[in-house]
Amino acid sequence: MSRIPIEQPLKRIAPFLWRAKGALLCFAIWGLFGWASFIGYGAESVERFPPPDLGENYQFPFSSQLPAREGWKAWIDTSVLLLALALAAWIALKWRNRKAMAWLSVACLAYFGFYRLGCVCPIGAIGNITLGIFDPSYAVPLYVIAFFALPLVFALLCGRVFCAAVCPLGAMQSLVMLKPARMPRALDRGLGLIPYFYLGIAVLLAAVGTMFIICRYDPFVSFWRVSARFHIWIWSGAVLLISMFVGRPYCRYLCPYSVLLAMLSRFSFWKVKTTPDKCVICGLCRDACPYGAIREADEEFRPTS
Ligand code: SF4
Repeated sequence: MSRIPIEQPLKRIAPFLWRAKGALLCFAIWGLFGWASFIGYGAESVERFPPPDLGENYQFPFSSQLPAREGWKAWIDTSVLLLALALAAWIALKWRNRKAMAWLSVACLAYFGFYRLGCVCPIGAIGNITLGIFDPSYAVPLYVIAFFALPLVFALLCGRVFCAAVCPLGAMQSLVMLKPARMPRALDRGLGLIPYFYLGIAVLLAAVGTMFIICRYDPFVSFWRVSARFHIWIWSGAVLLISMFVGRPYCRYLCPYSVLLAMLSRFSFWKVKTTPDKCVICGLCRDACPYGAIREADEEFRPTS
């Protein structure tokens, strides 16, 4: 009986493993936080002080928010956000360098995701801002307002640079992307309505002070904190898994902040375009874009020479 040399399967599998390194790394961390949560480690109850003894049947409420950063530390985060947005805008509009954009995205994921543990984030700040509007006794910190507003201001000026390179949730999904499928247009449009409903529900629940649903069901915050309840752990794993085969599913079919960004970016002063002077309207970029973000090229951009 002839024996298959061990190198052959290894040679075949190695390129796949290399391509899937982002996904493998994320799933390893996902497994780690599931295990950590299972054995009771982690920051789900956020503060680690011994809780008061309220009887063995009492269940402490789940907290999806970290204690606020205070004073100058909060403003460091805001400055980093401002700097990252400005850098992303410059790379997108002037330098037009995809690699630089990708590296900026990784740096922002490291800072806002793994270092700052996903808090405060502009998406979750929707809840704070809404409650601040409807409940005068709830004071929204100034830096939370800045976090909410800065990406929107940039969207109005130069498009969704926040999504392109600064948002850690977007970066997580791009990191695990392996073989994105092209979504049928009707399905894409149908699912694309969900963020509008989700935004409406999130605003309603925050306005009546019931809960900040966006923070509670954020798919990656628990991931960065290495802590989650079981259903959130499953939810995170599902979003990671789908992100391997559908480009940025959370961004396209759930993110409520994307509704605001999309509305403002329509009127953006400077727009990111394909290279109009070189475009031959072949449609390759539109077909290759894993997020379905490139619209049909316009005849007016066809080069004349
Ligand atoms: S659509 Fe939402 S989750 Fe996605 S990158 Fe933009 S803000 Fe972040």
